[in-house]
Amino acid sequence: MARLVMKFGGTSVAGAERIRNVATRVKREVDAGHEVVVVVSAMAGETNRLVDLCRQIAPLHDAQEYDTVVAAGEQVTVGLVALALHELGVPARSWLGWQVAIRTDGVHGSARIDDIDGAMLIERLKAGQVAVVAGFQGLGPDGRVTTLGRGGSDTSAVALAAALKADRCDIYTDVDGVYTADPRIVTAARKLDRITYEEMLELASLGAKVLQTRSVEMAMNHRVRLQVLSSFEDKPGTLVVDEDEIVEKQIVSGVTYAPDEAKITLLRVADRPGVAAAIFGSLADANVNVDMIVQNTADDGKATDVTFTVSRADLDRALALLESKRAEIGFARLSPDRNVAKVSVVGVGMRSHAGVARTMFQALAGKNINIQVISTSEIKVSVLIAADYTELAVRTLHAAFGLDAA
Ligand code: ADP
Ligand code: ASP
Ligand code: MG
Repeated sequence: MARLVMKFGGTSVAGAERIRNVATRVKREVDAGHEVVVVVSAMAGETNRLVDLCRQIAPLHDAQEYDTVVAAGEQVTVGLVALALHELGVPARSWLGWQVAIRTDGVHGSARIDDIDGAMLIERLKAGQVAVVAGFQGLGPDGRVTTLGRGGSDTSAVALAAALKADRCDIYTDVDGVYTADPRIVTAARKLDRITYEEMLELASLGAKVLQTRSVEMAMNHRVRLQVLSSFEDKPGTLVVDEDEIVEKQIVSGVTYAPDEAKITLLRVADRPGVAAAIFGSLADANVNVDMIVQNTADDGKATDVTFTVSRADLDRALALLESKRAEIGFARLSPDRNVAKVSVVGVGMRSHAGVARTMFQALAGKNINIQVISTSEIKVSVLIAADYTELAVRTLHAAFGLDAA
């Protein structure tokens, strides 16, 4: 007998028929003698609809009320899944985040899970009841509902698996595993049987939304056995594992892209100590996340240009903030570009192989794609390019690194 967490994403619970399909899959595991915790998202499109309603009513909405609204989608699906299980004769009950309780910090809209009290769930599981838990939501220190950021149900599932010491956390979704690139963009992408935690963490944080970044971080830290698989087909998915569990190591395991980037260049910035601290300190204070940064040396020893990227959603706020500090920081002009995308190649094999960056740059040059900014780490190389070339770049790199399916 095992204890399993089974998480179903939005497409997997979109409508009565699919909810019945979820219940059938859960029943199969219950019949096999396993204890099951089900975690569900809102129906596909529902969270977007709720976010949009908040924007229509109040563009600069109060984060606490935003969470109250957007957490509502998951309340509907936990109830429906529990009902569908009852119809199949499986004992089950729904749990909202605060009922468990899944305690988070107070950062409404992108809260982090601090602690899960698993006692009540474990008692019910032992008594043979399936727990159907609402993903994406928790209870803040202010006693109010919080949400974990978009895609956060993955993190709810992994956190529950860690807290309840589950044997496995299965993420059921609309693709049958983690691919070498988003299969919606690259038809030649291949499904990976296994991927390392580190690679999955890079892929997720560089744009592959198949798993929320924090869920991978948490799985890695708590050694949760994580599998991504299809909720519509019966076949093994992709296991996220330690590096020593991978026999054949690829130099590059995946190519990914982040479409919602924006670039800001500060022109003629004074070349003296403290300037970078002033620029990036102001942005950090305003909670604007900065990603890639390049600064040149000044050829006249006086002034240089500084270029960096932020998420497109933060661009206007970042520009207004920097403009208001122009005298203090000391620069001539701001030049924004909202039509950029970041494309990255990821693989643990890069640690021991030179030449990945060269292959990447040559392949992009071959398609006449200009590279605007470059950043690297031990297991990834990222480039910033014009957004119009995103799909071409991803497909070109996928082929250049030999990842295309035969
Ligand atoms: P869910 O609603 O089940 O959480 P998501 O839409 O959040 O599903 O994540 C699944 C989607 O992730 C897939 O439909 C796919 O388009 C996208 N995706 C992006 N990169 C990858 C990748 N490397 N492998 C598999 N899926 C990917
Ligand atoms: N329903 C939430 C969202 O759309 C959480 C999730 O799907 O994981 O972001
Ligand atoms: Mg998701």
